This record gives sequence, structure tokens and C-alpha cells, in this order.
Amino acid sequence: MRNPWPLDLPSRIDRAAERRDLVDLEDCDAIVVRDGRVLTADGRLVELAPAAQPSAALRIYLGRDGDRDLVALVPEDAAFGADPDGIGGERLRGLRDLLAGFWDRGANGERDHELATTAVAIANWHASHPRCALCGEPTVPAQGGWVRRCERDEREHYPRTDPAIIVAITDPADRLLIAHATPWSPRRFSHLAGYVEPGETFEQAVHREVREEASLPLTRLEYLGSQAWPFPASVMVAFRAVCEQPQALALDMDEISEARFVSRAEIAELVASGEVVLAPKGSVARRMLEDWYGGDLPERRPDTSVDV
Ligand SMILES: [Zn+2]
Repeated sequence: MRNPWPLDLPSRIDRAAERRDLVDLEDCDAIVVRDGRVLTADGRLVELAPAAQPSAALRIYLGRDGDRDLVALVPEDAAFGADPDGIGGERLRGLRDLLAGFWDRGANGERDHELATTAVAIANWHASHPRCALCGEPTVPAQGGWVRRCERDEREHYPRTDPAIIVAITDPADRLLIAHATPWSPRRFSHLAGYVEPGETFEQAVHREVREEASLPLTRLEYLGSQAWPFPASVMVAFRAVCEQPQALALDMDEISEARFVSRAEIAELVASGEVVLAPKGSVARRMLEDWYGGDLPERRPDTSVDV
């Protein structure tokens, strides 16, 4: 089984922050990003040389890939003509759709995953922070797109990342808690998760969220790893923990409408029958689940009649 938590690995891309102010952004190969989607062909990121690039509303420096500098390019709307979902023959695709394909391609997929999540996260931040938070004047990008500067009071505004915790909870029989959140599509199950609040540590956020959503006390909390999650601006921080009193399970029906502890045999059957749909392969939630399961989960059986 592939190591789900490669804590010893640095980034595949050198972010080269010292070059953000030096590089001519118009002279770099570009990844195209628009509305949380990236330009792809056959599940791979498309990188456009300067002569092939559409007119840009914004360019953001992503870093060094070998001896090349790369940028994220947000095209002007006019670049799309009558086709809002692509340029030429290539398609814009959302990150959730791309995760499994990135995961399957090993190191090259990890590289594409890093570039795509960085491009989407920083483009989302620019799109949602057009004005100075203090005086309300429009701001302009600076430092290769990693700062927005207010021209009136010269204050600098930096990109934000909102941490959220996610926790795989097992009971004394080593069954795993799976939960369905109210806004999700039917039959989708995952772990409990929630945003970290100001003034709180990650571990305190885990204990609070699980108490609020499921009334469960936790012990033996362990950090697993994390994943950039730019939907629109998060990083998911993953833990596992044990609940010695699974019988205390009581749901906050506003947030979580269904939850139960399942054995490995039960989850395999629920997935195969189509009764339960999991987070996509390559997502942190799926890695947590398969780490507990001990390998890849079986796919849904093709002959099942449940309509997903
Ligand atoms: Zn200002």
C-alpha cells in the first residue's frame, strides 16, 4: 500500500519566494485557472508557453519546476469566447474531479496536484479580496501575486488559509465512525470535520467539533498529515482518535443527520452495493479511511441497482 502520510517529503515544486519580485511573469509558462478550475488535457495540467497564452487578467508566480519558472494565469473573460469551459480543445476541470487521476500518477500526479491546488487557492484569494479590508479602496497585486497592496494607505494584504480539522474515530472494537453531513448529496459518508476557531489549537478544535456534532469523548489523538483544500481557502488537518464510549453517540441533526460505527467488512459491502459513496481517491478523507481499512477499498459492483 502507498504511504498515505509522506511526512518526510518536501514540495515537488520550489516556490522560490525570493524570485517573486524578480521574474517577468509574462515570460513564464502558465497554468490556466478560472473559477476554481484548471485547464487540463487527459487529466494532466496543460502548461502554455508565452506565445500560446490567452490574454491575462492576472498572473501569479508559482515557482521553479527544474529550470523553468511557472505562473498561474487567470484569463480575461473574453479569452473564452462562446465556450466558458475551455480554450481550444482543452477543458477546465474542477479539483475534486482531478484528485483520483493525480493520485494514480504517482510523483508526476503529485506535482500537478500541488500546482493546481496552489493556482486555485491563490486565484480564489485574489477574486475574493479586491479591496483593502481597512479603508475599502481597491488593492493591486504585488510581489508576483503573493500580496495585494492598497494604493491609498500602502497597507499590504496577504493570502489567507483557513485550517479545518478532520478526524478518523474508531471504537474499542476498531470499527470506524462514518457520518453524513446534512448538505451533502445522499449516501455520501465521511469523517467528522470542522473549522478551527480563533484562539483554538488544532487538537482543541477536534475535541470541540466531535463533542458538538456527535457528543463523543475522544482519547489517543494522533496527527496524520494534511492536504491543501482550496474550496475555497482551506487546509485539512487530519487526525485519528479513539472513542472508548461509542454508545454515547448522539447527533447534532443540524450538521450531521446520520452516523454509525462500521467494521471493515461492513464498509466494503456498503461501498460495493452503492449504499455508501466515499470521498474521491487521493483526498485526505479517503486516505484516512483506507489507512484504517488496510488497503484500497473495493469499487462499487457494476450490477448494483442503487442509483447514485
Ligand atoms: Zn487601504
